[in-house]
Amino acid sequence: MAVIGWIGLGNMGGSMSANLAKAGHDVRGFDLNPGALAAAETGGVKPAGSIAEVVAGADAVFTMLPKGEHAKAVYLGGDGVLAHADTRTLLIDSSTIDIAAAKELHDAAAAAGFRFVDAPVSGGMSGAKAGTLTFMVGGEPGAVADASRFIEPMAANVIPTGGPTTGQAAKICNNLMLLINLASTAEGAVLADRLGLDKKVFWDIASVSSGDSWALRTWYPVPGVVPTAASNNDFAPTFTAELANKDIGLAISAAEDTGTPLEIGRHVQQLYQRLIDAGESGKDCSMIIKLADGSLDAAK
Ligand code: NAD
Repeated sequence: MAVIGWIGLGNMGGSMSANLAKAGHDVRGFDLNPGALAAAETGGVKPAGSIAEVVAGADAVFTMLPKGEHAKAVYLGGDGVLAHADTRTLLIDSSTIDIAAAKELHDAAAAAGFRFVDAPVSGGMSGAKAGTLTFMVGGEPGAVADASRFIEPMAANVIPTGGPTTGQAAKICNNLMLLINLASTAEGAVLADRLGLDKKVFWDIASVSSGDSWALRTWYPVPGVVPTAASNNDFAPTFTAELANKDIGLAISAAEDTGTPLEIGRHVQQLYQRLIDAGESGKDCSMIIKLADGSLDAAK
C-alpha cells in the first residue's frame, strides 16, 4: 500500500481521499479549512498541519483545489509542494484549472525534476462518494500510467488524453456541455410544470427520451425527484455556482484562444453570472432553475 498526500479536502477531495484510505492506502490530508480537515479525518485521512508535512515520504500527492490560482500557490509557493516534496513523489492535480496554469505547473514540476500529470474528474460529489469518477489524465505516458494505478479506487473510468494539459482541455469542453445541459434541463422542468405535468412523470419520460443528460439524471433542479440533487437540500452546494461560472469562463477563454464563437456557452455564462450577482455564488449551480422560473429576478 502507498503513502499518499492529499491537499484540498472540500466537496470532492473529502470523499475522494476517503476512498483511497478505504482501499488501504496511508493517506495524509491538508486543507486551510479546519472543518474540511476534521471531516476528512472521519473518512480515515490523517490530518497534517502543513504542505511540508503532507508531502513528506509520499509516493503520490493529489491536489483538489478550486482554481488555477490556488493550484499555483500550493505547488509553486515558498511553502509549497515543489519546495518540500521529494522528486520521486508523483504529482497529480485533479482540480479543474485553466490550460495556461496547468502548463505552468507541468513546466515548473519538470524543471524541478518531478513527474506531474493533470487529472481532472467528472462525476460530481455523488461520483466522488461512490468511487465512480471519470478521470482524464494528461502528461508523459509513463507518469500517466503510474498515476492511473493510484487513481483506480476513486474511478469508474481512467482515460489518458495525451500530453501535458490535455486532461484540462477535455474537462473544460465536458463542463461547457454539462452547464449548458443543466440550464436547458432547468428550462424544460419549469415549462413542464407550467403545462401541468407531474414532476416525476416528466422526469421519467425525459430520462428515457432525447432530453436525457447527466445533469437531468444526477442534478435535477426540482426537489423530490433525484436523490443526489442539491434541489432536495435547498441548493446546499455540491458544485457551487462560483465554480460553475469559473468552468464556463475557462471554456470562453479557450474559445477566444481558438477563434471559436461559443454563442450558447457565452449566453449560459451570463446566467451563472446573474446567480453570482444575486449573492448566490456559494449555492449549488443547479439553482439556475431560479432564473428559469423567474423567482430569483422576482425576489430582487
Ligand atoms: P471546494 O471548494 O468544496 O473544495 C476545495 C478545497 O480546497 C476547500 O476545502 C478549500 O479550503 C481548499 N483549499 C483552497 N486553497 C487551499 C490551499 N492553498 N491549501 C489547502 N487547501 C486549500 O471545491 P470542490 O467542489 O471540491 O472542487 C474542487 C475542484 O474540483 C474544482 O476545481 C472544481 O471545479 C472541480 N470539480 C468539482 C466537482 C463538483 O461537483 N463539486 C466535480 C468535478 C470537478
